[in-house]
Amino acid sequence: MTREREPDTQRHRRPEDIPGPPPGRAPDDRVTAWCLAALLAVGAGLGSLNLFIDGVLRDGPTRWVYLATMLVLALLGAALAVRRRVDAATTAGLVVLGDVVYVVVARSVTDPMLYATPLMLLFCCAAAAWFLGPRMLVIHLVLVVVACTAALAGNYPDTAGLVVQVTVNSVVLDLVTVVVFTLRRRVERLLTHTRALSSTDPLTGLANRRCLVEQAPRIWRQARREGQRVVALVLDLDHFKRLNDAFGHAAGDDVLRAVADALTRTVRPTDVLARTGGEELVVIGLAGDPAEARQLAERLRTAVATSTAGRDREVTVSIGVAVTRPGDTEDPTEALWRLVDRADAAMYRAKESGRDQVVLAGTQLVPLPATRSPAALVARTRPGVRWHGLTASSGGAPPVLLSSLS
Ligand code: GH3
Ligand code: MG
Ligand code: MG
Repeated sequence: MTREREPDTQRHRRPEDIPGPPPGRAPDDRVTAWCLAALLAVGAGLGSLNLFIDGVLRDGPTRWVYLATMLVLALLGAALAVRRRVDAATTAGLVVLGDVVYVVVARSVTDPMLYATPLMLLFCCAAAAWFLGPRMLVIHLVLVVVACTAALAGNYPDTAGLVVQVTVNSVVLDLVTVVVFTLRRRVERLLTHTRALSSTDPLTGLANRRCLVEQAPRIWRQARREGQRVVALVLDLDHFKRLNDAFGHAAGDDVLRAVADALTRTVRPTDVLARTGGEELVVIGLAGDPAEARQLAERLRTAVATSTAGRDREVTVSIGVAVTRPGDTEDPTEALWRLVDRADAAMYRAKESGRDQVVLAGTQLVPLPATRSPAALVARTRPGVRWHGLTASSGGAPPVLLSSLS
């Protein structure tokens, strides 16, 4: 049984900290644009009906003002539908415009309580509650009172009657606005929480496999843009079953959490660190060359070793590293798993070579005879072979020198 991890606000590489999609047209932006376009079109359509019904509109230039207002609404709706994007300031502007339009309509009809009741403001209230931030929402709540007053003034024989009507109408409208706004905030919070849960490993709080896949396009884009290589590191804890058998599953879970914390502190801000299986983790990031990737892997190996050093439950990790240059046309998800497969194969070579070490895919491990120095071995190598340096010895075995196969 695995125990779930309490949220820890100090961790700096939780899935929600991982950069999201690049700036651009967010899907929410498009939905807002469509909704506002639809509201404008419906407002213009329904409002235009008054032009064809006798006795609804005041005579004289008022009709032209009314017609122009409906045309403006229709044009704005069409412009939004074509543009299919809208920013926060434009949204706020359109909501305020809706309040003004209501006042124009109410002042253009012969009897506002019959043909332009404050209920018309529900359009604006719904848009305000669903799309505006808290500050603009408060401004809108006040504007509703102003709009109701301006629309109904002059239609009541005494001030008391006007005040009662304005109060009743604006309280109802503002109440609806606040209720819808509160519901919206709850839905948003629920969505954020659900998204975080779906991309988080509950035991360690690290990103999970799904999050890794979601991040692949961003990493591939960044690598192409910056002319970098993508690096995948597959980390598998050594003899973890033994540790579980010796100390129990709960102790194993504690070690997994300690390792996750140590790795989280060690990876670079742009790396994605994910738990992809039981005691298996994957890091995806960028590197200028294989040597840089190897250095990162060595830092992670040391971080794991020191995370439990001195305790009775020490743990080490074997790491496979694979590096690739992202192709212009390749699918990032497929390329990600190809790269991880190579790193996985390298990780198994690290296991076979004694564990607690890093192996770079595409390299050979060459045992270094005690009688020969690395420099002497390098000097005797055939041309084309590149040496990557010494790897740490493990379990008293002699150090090995890494040569590139390429
Ligand atoms: P190797 O060095 O070859 O990787 O040996 P290993 O024992 O680490 O590998 P093996 O695949 O044989 O065992 C993995 C173990 O990891 C078995 C399983 O009980 C343990 N494990 C998997 N998930 C969890 C978990 O969430 N919590 C704990 N405590 N243990 C887990
Ligand atoms: Mg394993
Ligand atoms: Mg293992």
